[in-house]
Amino acid sequence: MMWTMPQLKRTQAIKRIALLTSGGDAPGMNAAVRAVVRTALERDVEAFGVEKGYSGLVHGQMALMDRASVANILHRGGTVLKTDRSEEFKRPEVRKRIAEDLRRQDIGALVVIGGDGSLTGAHLLQTETGFPVIGLPGTIDNDIFGTDDSIGFDTAVNTALEAIDRIRDTATSHERVFLVEVMGRSTGFIAASVGIAGGAEIVLMPGRDLGFEEICHTLKESERRGKKSSLIVIAEGENPNLTNQLTRSLNEHGFQARAAILGHVQRGGSPTGHDRVLASMLGSAAVDYLLAGQSDLLVGVRGDEVIAAPLAQVIGKKKEQPREHIALARLLAT
Ligand code: ADP
Repeated sequence: MMWTMPQLKRTQAIKRIALLTSGGDAPGMNAAVRAVVRTALERDVEAFGVEKGYSGLVHGQMALMDRASVANILHRGGTVLKTDRSEEFKRPEVRKRIAEDLRRQDIGALVVIGGDGSLTGAHLLQTETGFPVIGLPGTIDNDIFGTDDSIGFDTAVNTALEAIDRIRDTATSHERVFLVEVMGRSTGFIAASVGIAGGAEIVLMPGRDLGFEEICHTLKESERRGKKSSLIVIAEGENPNLTNQLTRSLNEHGFQARAAILGHVQRGGSPTGHDRVLASMLGSAAVDYLLAGQSDLLVGVRGDEVIAAPLAQVIGKKKEQPREHIALARLLAT
């Protein structure tokens, strides 16, 4: 997938920018870091990499980056800048001091790559202090409002699918029901994609759980049509025991059910081509938006375009999973 890049004219004489990765790490964050640094250098702007997200800002841990410092990171999972969660940054007086520190060092803007919490922090920094920020969606969950896609989502889906394909081999050999739990606390974007691409009979999403009777009915229907094994994909949701509870209940009702909780393996790994292209485009566009004098924005994608949306309209909002995605998984698998 390629997106159309915005055509932006430079209006700002920014000499230095800072960048950080924050919150949960996601594959492709390194590609975004590389794109921010190299685009900045190309525009004669110095780029400072902040270590460990907002913690590094609080403690003034940042270093000037050159072209070589982002060499050989495009294909690596995680984030070379490291990431963290910072309670201190949640205090307005700390954010005020940070803006003053950045200005004193002649740094004119900040790029934040992270999830909804990180973007919220970035927005507060700008609205309270006037310090220009741009946020990029970096989360495997793809739950950021205002962008169709986020850095790391495609890789996480592919990682989960690899595991599911293997599990299916076992499920078919032993005529079992396999319950596979994927990540996704508040939304089920990974679960829905994995459900469709992995051929799951049932996809369970946060807040949209099917009743137990309906699950049993679907599995029996599937058996009746001659299917030897069934796959249930479950988004982790808020209940940490859902998958194990459901597995136990199915076993008590005569099914041969087994659970596999994929957990953190979905976070790591080399980013897919899709995530590398996405992160490269967003990272580069972020610098150009800042140099065009535009900030307090999320830079993301909509349709086939790289877009920018005001952070105020993005943060704290729930991106809804289209119902037809779950219906499609079921339609194709039964
Ligand atoms: P993610 O960005 O992946 O959603 P978190 O929600 O943990 O991850 O947020 C990462 C960091 O962003 C937090 O540790 C905190 O420093 C900052 N942050 C999150 N929410 C807020 C908030 N409401 N106000 C200020 N800073 C916040």
